[in-house]
Amino acid sequence: MTSERKVYSGSCLCGAVTYEIAGPLRPVVGCHCRQCQKTSGHYVAATQGYWQHLHLKHEDGLAWYRSSDTASRAFCKNCGSSLFWRRHGNELFSIMAGTLDQPTGLHMECHIHVQTKADYFELSDGLPAIAQEDIEHLTPKPGET
Ligand SMILES: [Zn+2]
Ligand SMILES: [Zn+2]
Repeated sequence: MTSERKVYSGSCLCGAVTYEIAGPLRPVVGCHCRQCQKTSGHYVAATQGYWQHLHLKHEDGLAWYRSSDTASRAFCKNCGSSLFWRRHGNELFSIMAGTLDQPTGLHMECHIHVQTKADYFELSDGLPAIAQEDIEHLTPKPGET
């Protein structure tokens, strides 16, 4: 596990959204739900952090799409990058892992919502494949390692 004091940085493709977030961040999870497929074009690989730890350095391009009654997705309205997912009012939110600057030091942990995985490829990384969505307990609390 990475240090809780580590600060990660990231951006959209065009740079109209840049951010920093202090760890801890959850390991990366692949989400194969239909919404993640539609918004990403494949499936979403996302880490998760605490909303209060997010610092938006550039947010000119940031826009939110209310993707369900309970959650919204953030994207760049200039370049279209998919950035965040947040259940309304939740202290945790998801960060599309590919928007983080490298190296992240993170690792992929599992796949979720695999019952709706696309039929054109196989999961072959040997990671757990779970038919559930609520894995927020995997995010360490601040102070844990
Ligand atoms: Zn952008
Ligand atoms: Zn999903």
